Amino acid sequence: MSLISPALMQRFDIPGPRYTSYPTADRFLPDNRGEALTGALEARAAGPSLPLSLYVHLPFCESVCYYCGCNKVITKDHGKSQDYLRYLEREADLVASRLAGPGGKSAAVSQLHLGGGSPTFLSDSELALLVSTLKARFDFLEEAECSIEIDPRTVDEGRLSHLRGLGFNRLSFGVQDFDPRVQAAVHRVQPYEQVAALMQSARALQFDSINVDLIYGLPYQNPESFARTLEQVVTVHPDRIALYAYAHLPARFKPQRRIDADTLPGADLKLQMLDQAIRRFLADGYEYIGMDHFALPEDQLARVKRDGRLQRNFQGYHANPGSDLVGLGVSAISQVGRAYSQNVKTLAEYTGALDAGRLPVERGLTLDDDDRVRRDVIMRLMCQGRVNFEALERQYGIRFETYFEEALARIREFEQFGLVSRTPAGLEVSKTGWFFVRAVAMAFDKYLWQHADHQRFSKVL
Ligand code: SF4
Repeated sequence: MSLISPALMQRFDIPGPRYTSYPTADRFLPDNRGEALTGALEARAAGPSLPLSLYVHLPFCESVCYYCGCNKVITKDHGKSQDYLRYLEREADLVASRLAGPGGKSAAVSQLHLGGGSPTFLSDSELALLVSTLKARFDFLEEAECSIEIDPRTVDEGRLSHLRGLGFNRLSFGVQDFDPRVQAAVHRVQPYEQVAALMQSARALQFDSINVDLIYGLPYQNPESFARTLEQVVTVHPDRIALYAYAHLPARFKPQRRIDADTLPGADLKLQMLDQAIRRFLADGYEYIGMDHFALPEDQLARVKRDGRLQRNFQGYHANPGSDLVGLGVSAISQVGRAYSQNVKTLAEYTGALDAGRLPVERGLTLDDDDRVRRDVIMRLMCQGRVNFEALERQYGIRFETYFEEALARIREFEQFGLVSRTPAGLEVSKTGWFFVRAVAMAFDKYLWQHADHQRFSKVL
């Protein structure tokens, strides 16, 4: 029997946000002076010294993958990344100066993530320069988690060893699918043997955690071919697996126009592949973290999930409680205290803002009290799968059932299908309900119901 029935898919596989933030980024308001971020950074500097997460967006890729929906720059000109690093340094200066506490003390960093684009577009010396630029401006904790996204086509054992030497302790490999026909159709050819050898090298170099990203719903994928990919994935035994659904939106993402829609698997096949992947990972000892993530029981993500300490931000699920996130680089998003802010998306705007001596921010938002309580409810659902009414009533001075009367009415249907249970004490998402947790969280999203515009998002599965 299928873990997710067609009836549940039909009713609850609806378009909705991924809730890496609430309010979601599309609700941010124009703020090209970076006022929300500046205020939040300065308030943070004046308060107790809490650990900080850093995200750096490195947008360059040598060739385009046809399924791509990321903000990237396709180029073979490596001079571009050299220039970009100079501007990142300026941005880091502007942020670090606003974060400096009494006596000029810089912020302590507990987490660094390099994403893109392809961070490994940068040469070894450029990556070394970037790390030293950051370390000169922020105090990295000795136990800081430092992770980087790896395009397997751009690294070898020597490069992985260099990354380890720079202090990176987590890797995320973009795999998507091992089937040669699928790889050719999405213009990303990286044979299984090559990726498996790299992962073996990474193990020998003692990286703490290795993640593999997969996508289902790509051209020519079918349950038989995907079963082979799953077999190969569990053979290389990553600590974490992220399994994303491909959303074909060629009107929005230009590279996707090069994918022939007739080669895409239909909804039934997609559901079968999702089902077989979940079964395979669970049978191989992985624990389901939430949304699209699985981890081995001893991985930190699985441990914090079991302890009810899982967190979520723009980088997805993580284990750093209460930490603010500062994003550097084009399109990077920051979340500091009550503020969200997003950088400009093009290189020209980015360098232009920094040449003018200002933060390269495009839009932002300072949360009001209603946003804060809803963010708390949504993140509790997304991370712990439960909400305790009394805890929130004490924290925010509300009567939960009155304040969220409309949201609780929307939840009734999820209760009827066994996806959520409600008691006088609170709400709890069921085992099957976890697969639809985005849809559950949507019940509490004020903006979504005010504007009834959730069709813009990808579906929850
Ligand atoms: S999927 Fe990643 S590597 Fe491929 S074009 Fe997009 S950002 Fe670059």
